[in-house]
Amino acid sequence: MRIVIDGAAVATVDAEGTEHPTGHVIVHDGLIEAVGAGPAPTAGDRRVDGRGCLVTPGLVNTHHHLYQWATRGLAQESTLFQWLTALYPVWAGIDEEITHAAATAGLTRLARTGCTTAADHHYVFPRGRGDLLASVVEAAHRVGVRLHAVRGSMDRGESKGGLPPDSIVESMDDALAGTEAAIDRYHDPSPGAMVRVAVGPCSPFSVTPELMSAAMELARYKGVRLHTHLAETADEEEQCRAEFGATPAEYAEKLGWLGGDVWLAHGIHLSDGAVRRLGAAGTGVAHCPTSNARLGAGIARVRDLLDAGAPVGLGVDGAASNEDGGLGVELRWATYLARLRGGPDALTARKALWLGTMGGARCLGRQEEIGSLEPGKQADLALWRLDRLEHAGIADPVAALVLGALPPLALLLVGGRTVVEDGEIAGVSEVDVAAELRAASERLEAGR
Ligand code: ZN
Repeated sequence: MRIVIDGAAVATVDAEGTEHPTGHVIVHDGLIEAVGAGPAPTAGDRRVDGRGCLVTPGLVNTHHHLYQWATRGLAQESTLFQWLTALYPVWAGIDEEITHAAATAGLTRLARTGCTTAADHHYVFPRGRGDLLASVVEAAHRVGVRLHAVRGSMDRGESKGGLPPDSIVESMDDALAGTEAAIDRYHDPSPGAMVRVAVGPCSPFSVTPELMSAAMELARYKGVRLHTHLAETADEEEQCRAEFGATPAEYAEKLGWLGGDVWLAHGIHLSDGAVRRLGAAGTGVAHCPTSNARLGAGIARVRDLLDAGAPVGLGVDGAASNEDGGLGVELRWATYLARLRGGPDALTARKALWLGTMGGARCLGRQEEIGSLEPGKQADLALWRLDRLEHAGIADPVAALVLGALPPLALLLVGGRTVVEDGEIAGVSEVDVAAELRAASERLEAGR
């Protein structure tokens, strides 16, 4: 099966930043076969008219909590710690069915906003509620998006000085056993894999140092990547200093958690030295602009991290702190927040697109497979429609995508398979998905 996208503007996001004002992309057997300027040399089995559109690599979401789709719109004016304290007891009620409905909704929304690969950090595993990670993996199959399932964990409840109630934390042994089982069952190291697993103890205030260390050893023994929340708020830094005599970044470094196989969510409150050390280690940062703004957490030092050599990707974060849950709009949010911090040249539209594509691929260790439109890579791509009022007259298509309103998708391919066409999700009924989500949210609320 050969798909030919013809007549579109092309932003490859390759190392040279190659773009074609009018060009083509040829997809064969799920891989990109050719990218170039001008008309395609062949019609293929399926020709897609790309006139009026921009084709980019599919966007990569580096941080999410899909289950939170069932708890949107709560704790609206709260700091992170207040918000978590309000939501932990609600999350204690999730089960397989709720998680599946929430994950399907979240992945549908992600696909509809240009996302082809999503990392989901799931860290709430109430006892006796079934295989919640299986619910997420099943949802990813249903929607057709590539999944990095981060098996999260918390083992430090209130009785151990942690923030979450004891009722929703696991023992360290259960957390490690669950994580190892998830890797053995779902992690596919092969090129083009649709599901990979990473290890993700949740945060300094909900995980013991012992579990942080043991999880790191497990991940490195199994050859999978490591993920955690770090340096999200000033409150977290204060608590870390009081309990561990170190900033969150120093604490992570002391535990061996800075490395090229680690990506951290947020990384907002970092000193100059910490930025340099993250860059030197090649530790990635999942930048979540909308969620950071919703919680008033602060503005990440994206420009400084990039200058230091740290890969930075974009993340939606959970939909309980970002009710939109769409990825495309984060391109603009990242640009604007960087400029609020560092002035109008702090982040260009093209660098924002890099964050959302190659930067994310690097965070997930998949830069050889996805993140740019180059022959031999996975055919994960987004064809954005730019010929309507929202973008009419903007001569630069990348500026139209990043600085303008989020355009509808003419097409979204994952491994060459159609996931979105003419703005509609292909594999599921969005009406059904919305109904399932509403029922799940109501059941969770009723069970409180
Ligand atoms: Zn998060």
